[in-house]
Amino acid sequence: MTTLIPTALVGSLPKPGWLAEEETLWSPWKLEGEQLREGKLDALALAVADQERAGIDIVCDGEQTRQHFVTTFIEHLGGVDFDRRETVRIRDRYDASVPTVVGEVGRPAPVFVDDAKALRARTDRPIKWTLPGPMTMIDTLADRHYGSREKLAWEFARILNEEARELAAVGVDVVQFDEPAFNVFFDDVRDWGVATLERAAEGLTCETAVHICYGYGIKANNDWKATLGEEWRQYETSFPLLRESTIDTIALERHHSRVPAELIGLLRGKKVMVGAIDVASDEIETPEEVAATLRETLEFVDADKLIASTNCGMAPLARSVARDKTAALVAGARILREELGGE
Ligand SMILES: [Zn+2]
Repeated sequence: MTTLIPTALVGSLPKPGWLAEEETLWSPWKLEGEQLREGKLDALALAVADQERAGIDIVCDGEQTRQHFVTTFIEHLGGVDFDRRETVRIRDRYDASVPTVVGEVGRPAPVFVDDAKALRARTDRPIKWTLPGPMTMIDTLADRHYGSREKLAWEFARILNEEARELAAVGVDVVQFDEPAFNVFFDDVRDWGVATLERAAEGLTCETAVHICYGYGIKANNDWKATLGEEWRQYETSFPLLRESTIDTIALERHHSRVPAELIGLLRGKKVMVGAIDVASDEIETPEEVAATLRETLEFVDADKLIASTNCGMAPLARSVARDKTAALVAGARILREELGGE
């Protein structure tokens, strides 16, 4: 990566209205069978084209081939019964009906590898692929087999590692694990969360990243954020551990959040993907706002380790809003890049 302050989206983008219900998170598909397969890949191609036209440096698939960032991966695993559903509390925040682990979990076949090949074929730019992290996976399931969150997390870490190695082998440049659960279960993060994440990333020939956020801009998350007080210090637990970890890049939420900038200093030495776009609001950031959010982090992260990004995925937004926010991100990063005299 030669560009100073490269840009990358965290992961998801809105889906086209012919593929899924617009502005609806986790919407069911509107197509079936071969048409659905083709529709997903068409949507992926559009997501790539939009990012390239906007000038995004590290391109992703916009998660166009998956319905949910955790359950779509789990659907492809053995040992999980999707007909046996239980209601559990997700992220200690909201109840959801989730599938149940009923036996030994395994990955009978690659999950996203064909989709990643399709992304690779669509662009010459570096590509990033998102997977759920082990802790976030177990937090989105009911377990009636292992009887231990930690044990199940280690199993998922092994499975994720198999998938990640195959993604790297087909040309994925960055595998990013999404671990919003790291902002909730602090004892678990310390005891086994970071260790299982490192297991998921073990031996990868590509770069690795972890994204930790305060969630999509949905009501349950916005209500939770309102209870977190003046300063959001959740990162204080995970960042020092991640600084010592094998993970290359940490993606965090910053713009319009109450995360104190100095917490970023806990990651000194790591690459940092700073969220400079608020995904919980339809208001489009100005390039100057984006540049200001990025600029104030320079005290805590070296410029050559700063990546400009969004706070989280943009799936629930209108497509036009996501496009405009993507453009603002690129323009804002460019302002700062020129200030620093880099290309
Ligand atoms: Zn997120």
